[in-house]
Amino acid sequence: MSAHSNPSQSQRPRPREMLMWTIGFAMATATVEAFYMLLTQNHPISRFNPDSLWMVYIVDLVWVGLPGYCLALVQWRFPGRVSYWLFTSAIATFAWFAIVMLPDRLHTIAAGLLALGLASTTGRLAAARPRGFGQAVRRSTPVAATVGLVLVVAFVGSSEWRERQVFASLPTVSPDRPNVLILLIDVGRASHFSLHGYSRPTSPKLEEYSRSGITFEHAVATAPWTLPSHASIFTGWLPNTVLSEREAPLRESSTLAQTLTDEGYATAAFFGNVDVGHPRWGLHHGFAHYNVFSVSLGEYLLSSAIGRYLALSGGFRRLIKYEDILARRNAGAINVEFLNWLNSIDDRPFFAFLNYYDAHLPYIPPGQFSKMFDSGQPPRFDLLELDYRSRWVPFGSSTSREEFLGEVDAYDGSLAYVDQQISQLLSELDRTGLLENTLVIITSDHGEAFGEHGHADHGRSLYEPEIHVPLIMVYPGIVPEGQRVESSVSLKDIPATVFDLLGVRNRRGLPGRSLSRYWNPTLRSDLPAEPVVSQLIADNNQRFVNAILVGDKKYIRYANAEGIKEREELFSLGLDPDEHHDLANTPEGKLLLPRLRAALDSVLNAEALARSYTARQPITPKPLTAQLEK
Ligand SMILES: [Zn+2]
Repeated sequence: MSAHSNPSQSQRPRPREMLMWTIGFAMATATVEAFYMLLTQNHPISRFNPDSLWMVYIVDLVWVGLPGYCLALVQWRFPGRVSYWLFTSAIATFAWFAIVMLPDRLHTIAAGLLALGLASTTGRLAAARPRGFGQAVRRSTPVAATVGLVLVVAFVGSSEWRERQVFASLPTVSPDRPNVLILLIDVGRASHFSLHGYSRPTSPKLEEYSRSGITFEHAVATAPWTLPSHASIFTGWLPNTVLSEREAPLRESSTLAQTLTDEGYATAAFFGNVDVGHPRWGLHHGFAHYNVFSVSLGEYLLSSAIGRYLALSGGFRRLIKYEDILARRNAGAINVEFLNWLNSIDDRPFFAFLNYYDAHLPYIPPGQFSKMFDSGQPPRFDLLELDYRSRWVPFGSSTSREEFLGEVDAYDGSLAYVDQQISQLLSELDRTGLLENTLVIITSDHGEAFGEHGHADHGRSLYEPEIHVPLIMVYPGIVPEGQRVESSVSLKDIPATVFDLLGVRNRRGLPGRSLSRYWNPTLRSDLPAEPVVSQLIADNNQRFVNAILVGDKKYIRYANAEGIKEREELFSLGLDPDEHHDLANTPEGKLLLPRLRAALDSVLNAEALARSYTARQPITPKPLTAQLEK
């Protein structure tokens, strides 16, 4: 090479310098990614995991660093082979690709071309002035590292600090007070539990365990999907009293958890359902410890734009045959998180809420449970084809139950897995002597439709498959053993029941009546048939559906956004448990309808009135209670 040629073209980067540059590019890319995550953390489809702020640095050191490390190795082994231009273009391609993929808007090929173009320019700049470029990289690396550190301290450290503060400021409480453990099987359809007479042995352990307490044969969720149903379990209010529209976060801070925190309890929630468990939806109010994410390989991947792209890419998923939601935590992992936390709270009484997400779509029971039930029908939907970007709801309407037998097999297997995991958790708590003094409540937030009434999945209707859920309560010496209650009960009475059994006086205005009225003999004799209400906001906030159960009569009213009644249905569940025969237009139905309409209006009006007295910021009542033709 001529001594007179341009020095920047003849120079070759040294391997050590290449390592420094690679690390510099990776850190800078991670910093951009971290800021992007912070800026978009409240976006509806973002699943912001605070830990991703530090995880992304590690992922980018691997991903963006990959070509840099390889080329440095080549240069070390075969000195002088790699030019500044080639080296910088290569690491910049990976870095730019990660950055242009951040908004998840560009087609892969377009993003790739854009990244190549930007990288080639970056490479030319570096090759023209390698010394100046190297200086810039050297100076920016510590800045990027410092920014990363500050983010970690600010977000991860502050939540740990806040949790410690809450814990340190808890009032003193007798360690003898009973613990409360709520185990919630997300998507638990009562009629698919052998506990409730299902022909397949999906819940043998729960059947056995239920004999040491009380089982409610007809517990009804206040809504057929996660957010509103949890909102009721946590606050005691009907969903439409505390949630202004279908996808509005819960803003109510007077919750079951907050009340028990006030009492001195150590409180914690562990969510398998990241979608709705995410603090953005407001279910975290009052919990000192709130756990939605674990540190896992999946979470590392999801922390970076590249990882998110791969996790959501149908092509990539098909390539590696990965069907599940990336980083889904199974019941076993949730139990481990809970037991670890339990070890950290000394002997303070606790309230813990565990949400198991194993029976949610896509149904993928693990190991032996995947083969446990076999109808001989293949699943109707190829899970690899599911569109994870549009929240993977593959079911159309007008499907029949027969078409879903393959899905039902997998769903039932998932229930059996959760049943086994719950049993293992309870055995562990029993071994440490905790169960003796613990009120255990096992339930579900809603059921699942498999073709009934043309529906699948959940959140679509107020028919029984979607709102009839299991409910067991066990509290040795207090809740009687082996009883089964046939009356319909609402999950919104869970907070009131907990307060009653624990003797909590200051309920923070939370409504509801203790379900102990169903087993307390002095109260039982004069129990009237109490109405139970379930609600659904559907069709993009344009349809409001209310159902009321009185005795075995179920009345469903469909109203438009203005509260004008569009349609009514009436079923007699005793004779017609599958809700096939709408009685609304029969002579018998016409006699019953006025009373059921009045019963529904009366419940909704009483709820709205109670709310207007207790809420600091009552939401505008939705047109559910409004002007109806009598
Ligand atoms: Zn749910």
